[in-house]
Amino acid sequence: MAELLKGKPVADRLKEKSIGLIAAGQQGFRQPKLVIVRVGERPDDLFYEGGVKKNCALWSIDLEVKAFPVTVGQEELLATVEDLNQDNGVDGVLIFAPLPKTIDEKAIFAALAPEKDIDGLTMANLGKVFTGDKDAFAPCTPVAVMETLDYYDIPLQGKQVVVLGRSLVVGKPVSMLLLEKNATVTICHSRTEHLAEICKRADILVAAVGKARMVTEEFTHPGQVIIDVGINADPQQEGKICGDVDFTAVEPICAKITPVPAGVGSITTAVLLTHVTNAWRKKLPNNCR
Ligand code: NAP
Repeated sequence: MAELLKGKPVADRLKEKSIGLIAAGQQGFRQPKLVIVRVGERPDDLFYEGGVKKNCALWSIDLEVKAFPVTVGQEELLATVEDLNQDNGVDGVLIFAPLPKTIDEKAIFAALAPEKDIDGLTMANLGKVFTGDKDAFAPCTPVAVMETLDYYDIPLQGKQVVVLGRSLVVGKPVSMLLLEKNATVTICHSRTEHLAEICKRADILVAAVGKARMVTEEFTHPGQVIIDVGINADPQQEGKICGDVDFTAVEPICAKITPVPAGVGSITTAVLLTHVTNAWRKKLPNNCR
């Protein structure tokens, strides 16, 4: 039986640290403030927004939602982002993507001030992640992976880590964060040959492919740590989600594994709000830090 690397204690540690910092900093300053920019009413966005709202109340973070109809124009959205950039009372801005096809999404994200990009999706922040600049807001899911490895004391230095997936939101940035910790990183993708064999050799396997239960027993070995980033509609149980890893097949073999749900996915909101807290702390007068 593998050790289960659950997300809740990792998220709780982040929450407790930030709540302490907010309580201390708030003594002579305003609360941190997050603004969500949402276009339309996609169920995924509304679900995420609900979770963020609940957590903001617990963390003492002000939340404002700027909701637009899907018919919103490029200029109006751009003007909103620019106003939020200028507003010194706003610490973080979360823009739900994908935006409607009528909107030039790249231009909207490019307009967002990097110091308010708490989701780590602007090129400025990604550039910092790739150059090893610690001041970056890295995308939340890669940070959630790193927080999990840190919480459970999983050594990285000199270890063979295989990252399965090369997206700009997960695979590539998590690879850079792992490299920064002196892991030896191999990035695999849909054209990789001998995939299972390469994955099987890894000390740590990070699966971020978006393919339900793709990682099976031939990808793992006793002693391996598996971080399952996948969130997929479960093809075997309607209305449920499952990871990129076939948990039932792999868990009896590997040493440690994150569950889905209740693994990496349950940490991302805590990472997002930690980023808001950190953005806010940079504005605190010295005597409140
Ligand atoms: P994505 O943009 O679709 O990227 C998937 C990556 O997996 C691509 O690099 C692709 O390779 C690779 N891939 C696809 N099929 C493959 C195969 N059969 N063999 C090897 N590689 C394959 O997905 P993403 O946004 O990175 O998300 C990945 C997963 O993480 C999804 O399940 C998503 O729901 C989940 N996710 C979770 C969180 C969270 O909070 N936990 C946040 C974001 C995403 P190519 O580049 O060659 O196409």
